[in-house]
Amino acid sequence: MTSHFEQEYQSLFTEELAVAGGKQVLNDPYLHRLQRRHFYLFDVLPLFGTLAALALLAWRPPGVPELLACFAMWVVSGLGISAGYHRLFAHRSWQTTRGTQTLLAIAGAMAGQGSVISWVAMHRRHHERGDRDGDMHSPNLHGPGKRDKLRGFLHAHFTWMIAHPYPNVLRYAPDLLRERHLVSVGRRYYTWVALGFVLPALACALLERSWGGLLSGFLWGGMVRMFMLAQGIWSLNSFCHLIGRRCFVTRDRSRNIGWMAPLIFGESWHHNHHAFPGSASFGLAWYRIDPGFWFIRLLGALGLAWNIKVPSREQIDARTVTHAASWSADSQ
Ligand SMILES: [Zn+2]
Ligand SMILES: [Zn+2]
Repeated sequence: MTSHFEQEYQSLFTEELAVAGGKQVLNDPYLHRLQRRHFYLFDVLPLFGTLAALALLAWRPPGVPELLACFAMWVVSGLGISAGYHRLFAHRSWQTTRGTQTLLAIAGAMAGQGSVISWVAMHRRHHERGDRDGDMHSPNLHGPGKRDKLRGFLHAHFTWMIAHPYPNVLRYAPDLLRERHLVSVGRRYYTWVALGFVLPALACALLERSWGGLLSGFLWGGMVRMFMLAQGIWSLNSFCHLIGRRCFVTRDRSRNIGWMAPLIFGESWHHNHHAFPGSASFGLAWYRIDPGFWFIRLLGALGLAWNIKVPSREQIDARTVTHAASWSADSQ
């Protein structure tokens, strides 16, 4: 049964979809070329950058500036994805000023996971098709065997990004296309990704007054940070649709993995999120670690966030079932 809360959420963009019409996805060779280039630049290269940073450990172990730059950039780009790209732009679960929207879209771009409008389109498609045909990164569509499961995991975690059907932004993100400041940030996507490398490199070079500082700031604040954050984001597609707990009936096979929550800004309460996609809170309870939501609450306390949507205890309780029941109800 769909709660009133979720009906309200759905109505946010079903009207938009009705007027936009058109193809659901585009399979254009030019788009696939761009996807492959993006994959090698921002999904494969950070792995080699991280290996380079590890290989240089004996010569130049990271000092306090590099570790601080790595952590700070991880937080900035991680909150950009979690509070910005995901909870604000994709799900409209809270509202803020245009200035804060712009800053969050820039911060999210620094994660190297795509420009804001195409990320939102892909993510809305994931919710629409959740673990069924058309879900670009489901790990559950490769067959029942152990090898199929492994193939599914690799696809969901990494290889789906090489080239995939591209959700039509006219259909999936018409609301964002009307926001000129977001279109403008999206157009400069590669500039923001580059800034995510330049800032930590310059900060470490200035603090250490050396070329070595520039290199290690680039590696630790840029490459290692991007690699670590990407692992967390990709785990939501792979692990959080394969292992973990379920407590609601959802059409997809999403799971909650509580121990992962501090490592990925609370996003690993992924099953909660699929059950209540319009909620700004993914933990759905104060005692569950959910830094993405805490950040939104902090902005709220500063007067920079309002209309923060969270389902009531009664709405959550009304949909809660046991782990086993969540499966048996799904298969009906
Ligand atoms: Zn999901
Ligand atoms: Zn979502």
